[in-house]
Order: sequence, then structure tokens, then C-alpha cells
Amino acid sequence: MKINVVKRVLNANDLVAQDNRKKFKQAQVLAVNFISSPGSGKTTLLEKTIQKLLPDEKSIALVGDLQTTRDAERLAPGALQATQINTGMSCHLYANQVADALKTLPLAKADYLFIENVGNMVCPGEFDLGENLKVVLLSIPEGDDKVAKYPTIFRAADLVLITKIDLMGALSFDLKRIQDDLAKLNANVPLIQLSSLKGDGMVPWIQWLKAQRRKGIGAQAKFVTEE
Ligand code: MG
Ligand code: ZN
Repeated sequence: MKINVVKRVLNANDLVAQDNRKKFKQAQVLAVNFISSPGSGKTTLLEKTIQKLLPDEKSIALVGDLQTTRDAERLAPGALQATQINTGMSCHLYANQVADALKTLPLAKADYLFIENVGNMVCPGEFDLGENLKVVLLSIPEGDDKVAKYPTIFRAADLVLITKIDLMGALSFDLKRIQDDLAKLNANVPLIQLSSLKGDGMVPWIQWLKAQRRKGIGAQAKFVTEE
């Protein structure tokens, strides 16, 4: 009985997600869902990313948090629009919250839609928002055991970003352990180490992002809406 209820909710979410994906494709926007635990540096990375893509490429930011408009305010400079979704009690975004936001977003003018999910490594991975790609962040202070502990999200990741690498020497963090655990779950997933603060890794990150957008629009690989 319980299983049926859960399944119905997921299916309804998937239908809305499919519709979102069509809208992204029509607008030729690359939609990226950023997932991580709180405090791993999603907002800081997005602040820098939005600025680095300018002036050629323009971004919209959609931010999910239980409360406050703080992150949207931080992302507003440089973004075509930054919209905050307050989820209240919910620890993840639903596709219909993105669909509602899309009604007021200038999607046709944008190249990227960056969706910062609620800080949580568990359920955001289970709710498709219609995004083209999932980027999972893991910061050095969180520890090198998290890939093995949260396999679902790392299995679904299109890219893993190891953030705050400027803290690498100060804390014990075994990158090899992360790589070994990823090899078991998601063997071909690319991994980029970066520090938003110091700028390390920003070049490969921006290159990856731009390449995904080109690929999406050209070859219609992951970008394509399954119909
Ligand atoms: Mg944030
Ligand atoms: Zn949740």
C-alpha cells in the first residue's frame, strides 16, 4: 500500500519533469541540477560560474531552500533572473515547483538554468526536475567516506565536483578513496577538483559546462526529450 502511494507521487512528478525538459529544449537552455549537503559551496560556485560565463552566455538561477531569500539575493548580480523557492518543510525540490517558477523566468533569453536544490544528499536525487544534468558537490570538510555512504546520488551524477580543495592539506581527506568508490558506482563519471575561493579548477569546470551545452544543442544527446 505504502509503496503504491510513493510510486504515484513519483510518476506525477516525472510527468511534470518531462514537460519542463521540453521547455528547456525549446528554449535551448541547458538545465543543471546542483545537489549536495548544506554548506558544500553550491551558492558560491554558482556566483562565480554565472560571472565567468558572461558576457557571452547568460544564466538564470533557481534556488531551493526551506526558508530565506538569501541565496537568490547572492545570485542576482550577473543573472538574468534569480528566483528563490521556499520549500517550507520539504528537503528537496519537486518538478512542479520548477514548472511554476518557469512561468515567470525569461527562459528564451537564457543559455543556462542553474537549479540549486535544497541542501540534502538523499532525496533530491530521486526527484527529476526535468534537468539535463545532475552535478553533485562534495566538499573536503565533509569527508572522504560520503560517496560510499550516499551511493544513490553519486550513481546518478553526471559530474562530481570536489569543492573547497584549498582545505585539502588542513584536513585528512583521501581523494583516492573517493575515486575508488566512484569507480564502483559510476565508473565513467568525470570528477573535477575545485576551489571557488581561490579559483583552482574553475577553467575545467567552465569548459565542461560549455561543452555539455554545445553537445546538448548539437547532437541532442542527453538534451533530447524522450517522447
Ligand atoms: Mg545555497
Ligand atoms: Zn527530501
